[in-house]
Amino acid sequence: MTIGMTSRYARSQELFAAAQQLLPGGVNSPVRAFRSVGGTPIFVQRGAGPHFWDADGNRYIDYVLSWGPLILGHAHPAVVEALAQQVTQGTSYGAPTELENQLAELVIEMVPGIEMVRMVNSGTEATMSALRLARAFTERPKIIKFSGCYHGHADMLLVQAGSGVATLGLPDSPGVPSGATAHTLVAEYNDLEAVRALFKDHGPEIAAVIVEPVAGNMGLVLPEAGFLQGLRDITREAGSLLIFDEVMTGFRVAPGGAQSVWNIDPDLTCLGKVIGGGLPVGAYGGKRAIMEKVAPAGPMYQAGTLSGNPLAMVAGLVTLQQIRRAGAFEQIANHTAALADGLRTAAEAAGIPLQVGHLGSMFGAYFLKEAGQRITDYRSARQYADPQQYARFFWLMAARGVYLAPSQFEAGFVSLAHGEAEIVETVTAAREALAELA
Ligand SMILES: *Cc1c(COP(=O)(O)O)cnc(C)c1O
Repeated sequence: MTIGMTSRYARSQELFAAAQQLLPGGVNSPVRAFRSVGGTPIFVQRGAGPHFWDADGNRYIDYVLSWGPLILGHAHPAVVEALAQQVTQGTSYGAPTELENQLAELVIEMVPGIEMVRMVNSGTEATMSALRLARAFTERPKIIKFSGCYHGHADMLLVQAGSGVATLGLPDSPGVPSGATAHTLVAEYNDLEAVRALFKDHGPEIAAVIVEPVAGNMGLVLPEAGFLQGLRDITREAGSLLIFDEVMTGFRVAPGGAQSVWNIDPDLTCLGKVIGGGLPVGAYGGKRAIMEKVAPAGPMYQAGTLSGNPLAMVAGLVTLQQIRRAGAFEQIANHTAALADGLRTAAEAAGIPLQVGHLGSMFGAYFLKEAGQRITDYRSARQYADPQQYARFFWLMAARGVYLAPSQFEAGFVSLAHGEAEIVETVTAAREALAELA
């Protein structure tokens, strides 16, 4: 595909050519390679507030925000200052610090289901560890995940794992032995009947159900009424644990995560992205009786050389403090709603069927192949979403200085730094781009 291959991106093209000799596919994480929109990845030079500048000097309003973490925008002054101060005190000790207590306290205060928490370095580590813990606690081997939900790249979870995996057409990655996924059961998202059927066949062996309470790795799919409560009821009755993977939704759809929106009490919660404020952090937490199985309080082993890293803790701490300030979250949520409304109206005006969803500071937009189609799970996402049209829209928006996710099967994010001016500019760009597509 040659869309976007113009001199506007000349320096990015040079850098990408060099990167492809150095890194597999020229990137350190697959979706960055732009395989689903074609063309050359846009190389970033620097970011400030709602914007970043690419290697060719073009400015963009950023709706990827490092795939979610930057809820305050790029280089927020409070985060920069806290990091600058901490860095002069040392970057890692491998011994406990007060900062770890402070972030843990704040997380426990904000996320209703968390009574005790363990910090790790990524979302992948958080889900891996939470599942090991669920298996240790219940002494059962099997887990249920949902098609199109992504929980990081641990072997046992690389089954119908959405976005990056889906885009590359790797339903199961080579290198994952069949034994690693032998205990992973898969159901379609929003399908409680399928979950009931799995419990009917395997109930006493099921350690946990892990779910993205709002799915954000197959585009944005909201849970249907009763789905999350149904999972809570089924798992509780079967003596299995319910794990909310809130790596994306935590502090994003609401300060207390999706569990606070639907008032569900999961046994364990996984966190990542926003909790690190742009530095590498993940966490898993939940009921005290379960968390006390984690070493050294209990027998389940899990460790990390850089876990609880002081720079990461301080960036997370300042980020969470900022979004807790009065009115802050409401502001992001209002801007996100205005953006979603603007996109919907622009699509209607152009006569293009677009399914737009949003919650808190997350949004998603699917180009549908035909009007009247509705995406509620991974099956319908693959069937109804039109990747070519999204690819064209992506480049038309990039040309107008708006950076969207380089795949339709990803969620979009708004930050506290996005003001009304950026939303208006984005909707105007979308109106032009959609008119050109129609
Ligand atoms: C991003 C993500 C992960 C993986 O986190 P990494 O930090 O990339 O390892 C896990 N679960 C969900 C829901 C995510 O969105």
